[in-house]
Amino acid sequence: MAAIVLDGNKIGAEIRAEVASEVKAMTAAGIRPGLAVVLVGNNPASEIYVRGKVKSSEEVGIYSEKHTPPDNISTQALLDLVIDLNRRDEIDGILVQLPLPPQVDAKKVLMTVDPAKDVDGFHPVNVGFLSTQRPGLVPCTPAGIMEILKRSNIPIASQEAVVVGRSDIVGKPTAMLLTNANATVTICHSKTRDLPGVCRRGDILIAAIGRAGMITRDFVKPGATIIDVGMNRVTDPAEFARLFTGNPKREESFRTKGFTLVGDVHPEVAEVAGAITPVPGGVGPLTIAMLMANTVRAAKLRRGNPVPELSRV
Ligand code: NDP
Repeated sequence: MAAIVLDGNKIGAEIRAEVASEVKAMTAAGIRPGLAVVLVGNNPASEIYVRGKVKSSEEVGIYSEKHTPPDNISTQALLDLVIDLNRRDEIDGILVQLPLPPQVDAKKVLMTVDPAKDVDGFHPVNVGFLSTQRPGLVPCTPAGIMEILKRSNIPIASQEAVVVGRSDIVGKPTAMLLTNANATVTICHSKTRDLPGVCRRGDILIAAIGRAGMITRDFVKPGATIIDVGMNRVTDPAEFARLFTGNPKREESFRTKGFTLVGDVHPEVAEVAGAITPVPGGVGPLTIAMLMANTVRAAKLRRGNPVPELSRV
C-alpha cells in the first residue's frame, strides 16, 4: 500500500493562519511583533529565501524590515548593525541569512544576536535551553518537523526515531526535540556503520543529509514515517533516471526546466513507508511557518508572557 503523504503546504498554512490571528490580537493590544532580516551581498538563493520570509511576514501581519549590507562588509560593521537591532524594542526577531561572505566571522555575528531575539535558534544559549528543556527559541526546520509529526498524529513517545545527519541546524536539534518528546533516538552520520540496518530500526526516520535519493527502500522499516528534509537540485540525466523513470509529470518538468528538486529519500520508499513527506511541499513550507511562529514566541518571551511547550506558538 502506498504511504500517506504528509502535506507540508497544508500544515504550514494552518500554522500561518494561527500565527496571523495571534498577531492580530497582539497588535490590537499594542504589541505588533517585528522581524529584521539581514541579507549580506547578492547570493541568488539567499535572496529567494529572504523574499519568502519578508512576504510571509507581511501575510501574517508581522512588521518586517530588510537590511542589505554589501558583500564586502566587515565583521565589525555587521556586528554594529546587529547590536543596533538588539537595542530596538520594536524588533522581536533578528535573522542573519547564511551563508555570510568569507571575510565575516559568522560565528561572532551569530553569537552577538540577542538570544531573546534569535528566531533561528542558533545561539548557544538557545541550544542550551533546548537541551535542558527550558522555554527558548528552537531552530525553525526541526520545530517544523515536530509540527508535521504532531499534527499528523504520528506517535512519538516510546517510538524508535533515527535521524540521519548531525548538523547544528537540522540533525542535532531534531534529535534533541525527539528525545524531549520521549522517543528513543539514534543519530547517524557519514561514519555510521551499517547505515541501512540502523535506519531500518526507525519507526520514524528523518533524512537530513543533502544527498539526492540516498535513502532507498532497503533503509526503511515497512510502515515507518519518513521525514525528508533534503533539498537537492538534480540536473544530471542519469541521476534523474535513477530517481524518476516512469514518472511522466517529473519527466516533463525535467525536460522543460533542465532540473528537478529531490529530497534525500528515493521515491520508491513511498511503496514501503506508512507516511512520508514529499519534496517539494513537505518540510520546506514548515521552515518559514515556524519562523513566523518563532517571531511571535520571541515577542511574548521578551515581555515575560507565558509560551506553550516546545515549538507551539
Ligand atoms: P549538512 O551538510 O550540514 O549536514 C549533513 C549531514 O549528513 C552531516 O551530519 C553528514 O555527516 C551527513 N551525511 C553526509 N553524507 C552522508 C552519508 N553518505 N551517510 C550518512 N550521513 C551522511 O546539511 P544540513 O543539515 O544543513 O542539511 C541537510 C539537508 O537538508 C540538505 O539537503 C539541505 O538542503 C536540507 N535543508 C532543508 C531545509 C528545509 O527547509 N527543507 C532547511 C535546512 C536544510 P558528517 O557529520 O559525518 O559529515
